[in-house]
Amino acid sequence: MPIDVLIVGQGLAGSLLAWECINQGYNVLVVDSGEINASQVAAGLINPVTGQRLVKQSGVDYLLPTALTCYAQLSAKFNQLLFKPLPMLRILKTPLEQQSAQKRLNQRDYHGFLSIGKDVSTSLVAHHGILQQTQTGYLNTSALLGLMRKFLIENASYQQSVLNYAEITLQPRLSWQSICPKHIVFCEGHHGMQNPWFGNLPFQPAKGEILHCQTTDLLQQHIFNFGQWLIPTGDNQFKLGASFESGKTDTDTTQRAKQTLLQALSAVVPGLKPIEVLNQQAGVRPTTLDKQALIGSHPQFGNLHMFNGFGAKGSLLIPWYARQFVKYLFQQTPLPAQVNIQRYYETHYIS
Ligand SMILES: Cc1cc2nc3c(=O)[nH]c(=O)nc-3n(C[C@H](O)[C@H](O)[C@H](O)COP(=O)(O)OP(=O)(O)OC[C@H]3O[C@@H](n4cnc5c(N)ncnc54)[C@H](O)[C@@H]3O)c2cc1C
Repeated sequence: MPIDVLIVGQGLAGSLLAWECINQGYNVLVVDSGEINASQVAAGLINPVTGQRLVKQSGVDYLLPTALTCYAQLSAKFNQLLFKPLPMLRILKTPLEQQSAQKRLNQRDYHGFLSIGKDVSTSLVAHHGILQQTQTGYLNTSALLGLMRKFLIENASYQQSVLNYAEITLQPRLSWQSICPKHIVFCEGHHGMQNPWFGNLPFQPAKGEILHCQTTDLLQQHIFNFGQWLIPTGDNQFKLGASFESGKTDTDTTQRAKQTLLQALSAVVPGLKPIEVLNQQAGVRPTTLDKQALIGSHPQFGNLHMFNGFGAKGSLLIPWYARQFVKYLFQQTPLPAQVNIQRYYETHYIS
């Protein structure tokens, strides 16, 4: 069967792009190394209002509904709940955060996202108050990737191997091994930095570590956000994360990150004891210089493309951008300028 799109990488970006292509009737082959990736480590949190100044994600009005619809469709397809909506308690840690919260609570366009929070646990330390955030929750990315891989394998659309760039031929026609796809899309996460065609784009990868913990205390049905976050995952277990180390690309777990995360938690929920760390993982976020995704085509080789750079917000961003990208590939619909890699070629950032 002729392949329309060869997708390199089966993280969240490659998986959801493959899903969108298949839904639109295109044939794909997904090639992935099979190694643990950032998407499997990620907590999958969706939080539309972030940062000390509590700023709403630009485009949330279309990003969030598209993401929720996509995850609902996938949950139905695989008969497993993949996105769990959970309200978030934001523990305000500084006077600046408190001021920002007061300002946002008075802004009409934040009303659907924020309200004054109530202390659901008697032991929360919140000197500057608590904000309740809604339209939040988490995606079980690891389960989604496993189900998607199985689905692709059953449809003869998956190959486990590290794609060797030297095996790609551009002329007289695009080919890789015995396949002649119409397009190749690289969804390689931070490994995109080694890509011979796109590696000079301004990635700024950031390592993150995350703990999976158990406690005997009953955890409330809220995500806690205190600069770090705690996500209850059921059975008195929770995820605690994530550290952020800009420029680091190793995936070694460290005692330092573990202690930092546990100390940050005990400063706001000192009553949560005992905590047993069941697992610790590290991954690398594909973050970028201008904090925008890196999407688009090579300026010289128009059937080589990149779909990458979703940073720390893949769960929220990827579904909508996958839809736009498929329209761009097959209907020549322009990509949003802020994510189009063209921005770097036009400004001669890359010579
Ligand atoms: C600790 C941590 C916590 C995070 N928490 C959140 C969160 O709460 N919410 C959120 O939205 N995001 C979070 N993120 C970010 C999220 O992980 C990313 O936005 C998203 O998963 C990136 O997906 P990706 O597919 O681009 O990259 P990846 O998941 O890294 O996937 C890339 C894939 O490409 C494969 N690959 C690369 N090169 C080749 C090749 N040559 N041949 C074959 N295969 C190749 C890799 O093996 C890998 O499987 C977190 C990340 C980390 C590390």
